[in-house]
Amino acid sequence: MSSGHQIPFFPPDLFEGDRKVMIDLIREIGTGPAQRFILGDHTARFEQLLRDSLGAADVVACGSGTSALGLVLAAMGVRGGDEVVVPAFGCAPLAASVVNLGATPVFADIHPHKMVVDPDEVDRRITDRTKAILPAHMFSIMADMPRFTELAQRRGVRLVEDSAVAQGAVLGGTPAGMWGEAGVFSFVQVKSFGMPGEGGAIVTRDPEIGRRVRMLRNHGQDGKQRFVHHVVGHNSRFDEIQAAFQTYRFDGFAERLQRRAAIADYYTERFAPLAERGVVPPPPDRDGRCYYVYSLQVERRDELRQHLLERGISTHVYYPSPLPAQRAFARFAGPGDRWPNAERASGRILALPIYPHLTDSQVEYITAAVGEFARS
Ligand SMILES: *Cc1c(COP(=O)(O)O)cnc(C)c1O
Repeated sequence: MSSGHQIPFFPPDLFEGDRKVMIDLIREIGTGPAQRFILGDHTARFEQLLRDSLGAADVVACGSGTSALGLVLAAMGVRGGDEVVVPAFGCAPLAASVVNLGATPVFADIHPHKMVVDPDEVDRRITDRTKAILPAHMFSIMADMPRFTELAQRRGVRLVEDSAVAQGAVLGGTPAGMWGEAGVFSFVQVKSFGMPGEGGAIVTRDPEIGRRVRMLRNHGQDGKQRFVHHVVGHNSRFDEIQAAFQTYRFDGFAERLQRRAAIADYYTERFAPLAERGVVPPPPDRDGRCYYVYSLQVERRDELRQHLLERGISTHVYYPSPLPAQRAFARFAGPGDRWPNAERASGRILALPIYPHLTDSQVEYITAAVGEFARS
């Protein structure tokens, strides 16, 4: 049964509609008299656009979402001997950004259904060496930021929000990125506000964090005097062509998010009755949702994956293994320590295509193919 549909998970035509804009920008900036390709006026305007849209004290564009996490933790003074509590389920930068500062990631288990890190687990794992907690929004669901805000205050630790997947999401009236002392965005192509290349940003309500991160992203310089290095920094600068392109694309961003949310609503409504047959959609809601990825939990996950592939539908497994089970991070897992919900999720999770230019008929086709599997 291949009705001619071919639905990739990473669509090659993601930026097709804006192709001419991109080519014009390459020519304009590439041949401009200033010959400025990083951290110029386009980057400054892009940062201001995001700052105004969020009501942030500062937004600092940088080389990647990963780099943004590292810069924030460094700006907060995280260093050797410190612990940072991170989710046991998620992407490598959650732990690597901590390790790369010489500090220790402490893994906390997730909520079994929402798959975001569990506040009680984080609370339990805070010690007198804990410098910060780093909840992450996952796939389509924001972490319980009101609880983490309360927790950070009560336990006296810094709160960093990994909002890399959640740009544009709002929880209880507060945008993703603005719950933590600082948050991060990623603009890597597949993210909700992705672009054709590598980039990220730090968003913060604390101007001092903004000032430090600005220095750290460009070799410890203050942006006024060149070759005066106040601190040991990094190269994590932002590209002018991408800044101009993202500034242009920001206009359509809210609409693209709406389309993602509409697809997610459709999926969740149709899939809810399949839960008793081992295909479990995320809990329905609009508050605190981002729909970067739409993830099911499926008992016969690999079989469903194959079933969809045979029907021309590509899926993806984020993530096949909990972080402490990775060789790179195994030394940070205490002996006998377990993260049962993360282990269970990594064996069951499956992401369906949800990009905004999926047609209604493609969405219906995917939905029908999943339904057919669950009922078989
Ligand atoms: C994508 C992602 C990052 C890293 O962003 P890059 O731009 O790919 O470096 C960090 N955290 C989470 C939760 C992400 O999904």
